[in-house]
Amino acid sequence: MRVILLGPPGAGKGTQAAAVKERFQIPHISTGDMLREHVKEGTELGRKAKEYMDGGKLVPDDLIIAMMEDRLSKEDCAGGFLLDGFPRTLPQAEALDRLLSKMGIKLDGVVLLDVSDDVVVERLSGRRVCRSCGAIYHVSFHPSSRGDLCEACGGELYQRDDDREEVIRRRLKVYHEQTAPLESYYEGKGLLRRVSGEGATDAVLKVLQGN
Ligand code: ADP
Ligand code: ADP
Ligand code: ZN
Repeated sequence: MRVILLGPPGAGKGTQAAAVKERFQIPHISTGDMLREHVKEGTELGRKAKEYMDGGKLVPDDLIIAMMEDRLSKEDCAGGFLLDGFPRTLPQAEALDRLLSKMGIKLDGVVLLDVSDDVVVERLSGRRVCRSCGAIYHVSFHPSSRGDLCEACGGELYQRDDDREEVIRRRLKVYHEQTAPLESYYEGKGLLRRVSGEGATDAVLKVLQGN
């Protein structure tokens, strides 16, 4: 199972990826999570990426492509992977195509999680994430039964720096301008499946199980 999850920020990619990862036992590769880890650890990449991320802009393609070439060549990707947040631009998609063909593998599909801009703003303004295990919550739609602590591991829940309304608007604009063109790119290759992201959180898993 080699799949890309496409969709605007807040569509529910991370939430739905967790179920897919569990069911198919494949790594969930989120470029956002990887970058936040680099920022936390203060690596060179993290230092370069931080100001773009804080401003809701995309990190330059060459940095992302190098990071992903490295990640996809790791052994745990041999049996499949779920990409979340990559590719996000046409040059990234083309680089991924070249990389996969060099590795002699093909994508099985691209699932587009569709949600309206209003829903995105509502979701991201209430999103909370566990600092320890990365579990995703929402203050109204999916609150933790332990308040400010993670249900799964007891870790502290926090609000991401870029989940503020003005940055959310910027990220949405960036999505429509730079990432949405990937929808027709993958449609042209016959790989795209559209799924509503406004319903249940197992919609992606259901589509993939129908394979
Ligand atoms: P993405 O990875 O696409 O940015 P997340 O999975 O982090 O999105 O979800 C964004 C926010 O929306 C989180 O607070 C999450 O709890 C909430 N959320 C995700 N899917 C749904 C859904 N189907 N209905 C209601 N809220 C949802
Ligand atoms: P979202 O909730 O918007 O899906 P992510 O966690 O995927 O957020 O990404 C957070 C930030 O990390 C983005 O706003 C961007 O600055 C950076 N980022 C993540 N993935 C990429 C990518 N493939 N290309 C460029 N920048 C990226
Ligand atoms: Zn946790």
